[in-house]
Amino acid sequence: MAKKPIPYKIYLSEDEIPKQWYNLNAAMKRKHDPFLNPATLQPCTADDLRPVFCDECIEQELDRTHEYIDIPEEIRSFYKMYRPSPLVRAYCLEKALGTPAEIYYKFEGNNTSGSHKLNSAVAQAYYAKKQGLKSITTETGAGQWGTALSMASAYFGLDLTVYMVKVSSEQKPHRREVMRTYGAKVVASPSDTTEAGRKILKEFPGTGGSLGCAISEAVERAVSSDSCRYVLGSVLDHVVLHQSVIGLEAKAALEKYGVQPDMIIGCCGGGSNFGGLIAPFMGEKIAGKNGIEFVGVEPASCPSLTRGRYAYDFCDSAKITPLARMYTLGSGFMPSPNHAGGLRYHGMSPIVSELYHEGYMRAVAVEQTKVFEAAEQFARTEGILPAPESSHAIRVAIDEAIKCKETGEKKVILFGLTGTGYFDMTAYKQYNDGAMTDRIPTDEDLAQGFATIPDIPQNKEN
Ligand SMILES: *Cc1c(COP(=O)(O)O)cnc(C)c1O
Repeated sequence: MAKKPIPYKIYLSEDEIPKQWYNLNAAMKRKHDPFLNPATLQPCTADDLRPVFCDECIEQELDRTHEYIDIPEEIRSFYKMYRPSPLVRAYCLEKALGTPAEIYYKFEGNNTSGSHKLNSAVAQAYYAKKQGLKSITTETGAGQWGTALSMASAYFGLDLTVYMVKVSSEQKPHRREVMRTYGAKVVASPSDTTEAGRKILKEFPGTGGSLGCAISEAVERAVSSDSCRYVLGSVLDHVVLHQSVIGLEAKAALEKYGVQPDMIIGCCGGGSNFGGLIAPFMGEKIAGKNGIEFVGVEPASCPSLTRGRYAYDFCDSAKITPLARMYTLGSGFMPSPNHAGGLRYHGMSPIVSELYHEGYMRAVAVEQTKVFEAAEQFARTEGILPAPESSHAIRVAIDEAIKCKETGEKKVILFGLTGTGYFDMTAYKQYNDGAMTDRIPTDEDLAQGFATIPDIPQNKEN
């Protein structure tokens, strides 16, 4: 039977938006090691986590048995406003490259937050509302997560306070105004509204702040009130769970046309979009049902998978979160200040870390000038101005398609286009001015970060 011609955009219908998320944790044969309470070094219980996170998110976080988890109808209704997201056949890029490969991308930038982060923001806001909470807090660096959460909070009528790293709030005033338009209170961090903030301000007056400090402020505010919780936009298992909507839709769309990917590529910051994109495909691979090659892409300036250690570490630089066993550069690692391409988190989702450790996927580190060359080529051929983060995946998809040209292989490549780059004009300006440089950390730089990984018995056994 002749294959149906594949359109530029494969849309699913509203009814085809998944009714359940896919829990990769249940499919994994070896589960990742549990979070540890840093005070006792014992595995975290639900009760340890309750003052910080919403109850239902904790339940999902610790669920290692249910392969499918129902998506509540209220969340699906919100998803209907911007999902299903299109799966695009990159015909124009294929032509420009002259490759025999078929390239597809799943585009998550079609909403005001401009990224996939809304998929988890709406779920977490819903569970907070359902629990009867009045408010939630979070931190934001670049601003995508804060924007996504402010949209979700407005929808469910929750008060949201976003601690935004002070330099970012000054450099990205437009992001701040989007959040305020949705009703969020945006506080430049460090601030005088928390103990943690006041302490930092006293020690370092005039500091531009850091993500670690913003996390401390947001968590402090959450734990000091009974009706407030903290929410996080990446890394954690329940965030990867919510992001599985990306992979489930991509799989359904490809199956409509009888297409089976040979390779799936995604960018890795904290690992949530990558974990979500690969989830249902990886579940099949673990069960021996496919031979897909999975590739995670990270910046050469923040190479947690390719050069990091698999160890228990704090999720934040203020060292107040539980310890997670993950690939990490150390919570004290600072990517070089000339790094403009996003994905600057020191650690990696424990799920993605364990899959990498067991050899189910590989990882590639790419330099930012090469990433922006790919972004430019993509913008000029496919029309969409990509986020710098997403452009890491574009870089490797293009490289793989060029390899196919050399070998004549007709590989089917799928990659995640996580968002748009409209708020990243400073980075694009650097690139356009020819002022962008690459700085790859030396082994000595990495050693400084590794020295901040906690010296606990669990890290000696590994
Ligand atoms: C936050 C973000 C990422 C990286 O986060 P992950 O948790 O690794 O997915 C990638 N792309 C965009 C557009 C983002 O906003």
